[in-house]
Amino acid sequence: MSERKPVYRRVLLKFSGEALMGAQGFGIDQDVVERLAHEVAEVRGLGVEVALVVGGGNIFRGLRASAAGMDRATADYMGMLATVINSLALQDALERRGAKTRVMSAITMQQVAEPYIRRRAIRHLEKGRIVIFAAGTGNPYFSTDTAAGLRAMEIGAEAILKGTKVDGVYDKDPVGHSDARRFDEVSYIEVLKRDLKVMDSTAISLCRDNRLPIIVYDFTRPGNTLRVVCGENIGTKVVGE
Ligand code: UDP
Repeated sequence: MSERKPVYRRVLLKFSGEALMGAQGFGIDQDVVERLAHEVAEVRGLGVEVALVVGGGNIFRGLRASAAGMDRATADYMGMLATVINSLALQDALERRGAKTRVMSAITMQQVAEPYIRRRAIRHLEKGRIVIFAAGTGNPYFSTDTAAGLRAMEIGAEAILKGTKVDGVYDKDPVGHSDARRFDEVSYIEVLKRDLKVMDSTAISLCRDNRLPIIVYDFTRPGNTLRVVCGENIGTKVVGE
């Protein structure tokens, strides 16, 4: 492999919780966690400052539970706790690879994670630590995509790299539509207007208002996270109009 050069100084990686379950259908597939940790450590190895947000959908999804009758706020808090479990799994795998990490939680639980303090998070990044933001925004009615946007802005990340199971944003669902077209680039407003499945509208609006680029790419293919960090055009970039 030729020498890789990152095009970012500081990024926020967002992984969905669902990806962590692999083919299991629930919970954490350790092989997936190991591979992701390997890739994240590789990016850090290039000298890029890395923050991480992971979802919780592999363990608990608030919206689904509330649709089944559970109180929405309670269900959402359970979802946020699920992200803490995933964050600890990633932290463990990263540290076994020699990476230095900190988990910072939006819900205080000092026995397992540091409380989220913005200036401290930035300091960790400056020292080369991978910072994993757990428990979403700490508020019900939000998603971990919104947490990713919020934290990315707070720490001055140059982009959100959103790892998904598809290789970008399509004009219609590529599953079941053979004529679906993938965008190289698409505007936030287009995503909102056409209700393209990138992130929920709260997260997209937040990124739009603050001109934070989102890059959607297929992170199930080994090496892709590194490719995106090195500026390869393998996904879809969501940017201003
Ligand atoms: N959640 C929340 N507030 C936040 C972030 C997450 O209430 O700021 C809850 C919400 O119930 C959500 C769950 O945590 O369904 C798991 O996060 P998400 O569904 O975003 O994870 P992913 O889709 O990435 O697996």
